[in-house]
Amino acid sequence: AVVAEGVRKRYGPLEVLKGIDFDVSYGKVACILGPSGSGKSTFLRCMNHLERIDGGRLSVAGKLVGYRERNGKLYELRPNEIAKTRIDIGMVFQSFNLFPHMTVLQNIIEAPVGVKNVSRAEAIDYAMVLLRKVGLAHKRDAYPRTLSGGQQQRVAIARALAMRPKVMLFDEPTSALDPELVGEVLGVMKELANEGMTMVVVTHEMGFAREVADTVTFMDGGYIVEQGSPEAIFNSPQTERAQAFFGKVR
Ligand code: ATP
Ligand code: MG
Repeated sequence: AVVAEGVRKRYGPLEVLKGIDFDVSYGKVACILGPSGSGKSTFLRCMNHLERIDGGRLSVAGKLVGYRERNGKLYELRPNEIAKTRIDIGMVFQSFNLFPHMTVLQNIIEAPVGVKNVSRAEAIDYAMVLLRKVGLAHKRDAYPRTLSGGQQQRVAIARALAMRPKVMLFDEPTSALDPELVGEVLGVMKELANEGMTMVVVTHEMGFAREVADTVTFMDGGYIVEQGSPEAIFNSPQTERAQAFFGKVR
């Protein structure tokens, strides 16, 4: 579902991704961990076509990021084409990013109706299925500012799911939340994982990674330093860098 080969990304003179090899199959959950500035968000943003990559190859949900391949040649995508290739990817950010002037229900049906031409009635039906799934059916007509952070983030997840994505990307979805609200969001994510959603999750929640991830990737300084099963990475990290990091956060 996600395949990265030697992915490079730079901001001016600063190389932020220095050749990333990474791979997530459909139905699997990959957690990415690492210190601040290691390139985790940049990598996710590349996966969601929000950044252009400068080298290597990246495909998500069966589509090459940033390029179209024809007769063995690569062509850069135009902005309108990028929007189309992004349709199978859902993304949830640290800040919930709901539209403040729209109700919960309007937030969720906006993209299916506006981008995918789903009928309003059908979009509302599916939005209610999703709202029940995240435990917020009773908030359908509420405005985002009247919801707790945990509730807003669960709406943000429902909104991403409304597009029926093949891959869901999460960038530290719980790190802006008060501690007592973290569990309800992780619970929704765990349920999604159990239903077979393909997920890439940047997180500092070790417990979640340990329990839910199929693979854990440890990034530092624009490189993948270690990658493997949660047991391998958490219980017996091989590099000094990972030992120091997990020693500190455990
Ligand atoms: P954190 O845990 O703090 O979220 P991160 O691993 O997500 O960190 P990134 O946000 O990917 O790290 O940033 C990696 C590096 O790229 C940092 O040095 C950052 O300052 C730099 N960077 C990120 N975005 C930009 C940008 N738009 N322009 C210039 N530099 C950037
Ligand atoms: Mg980040």
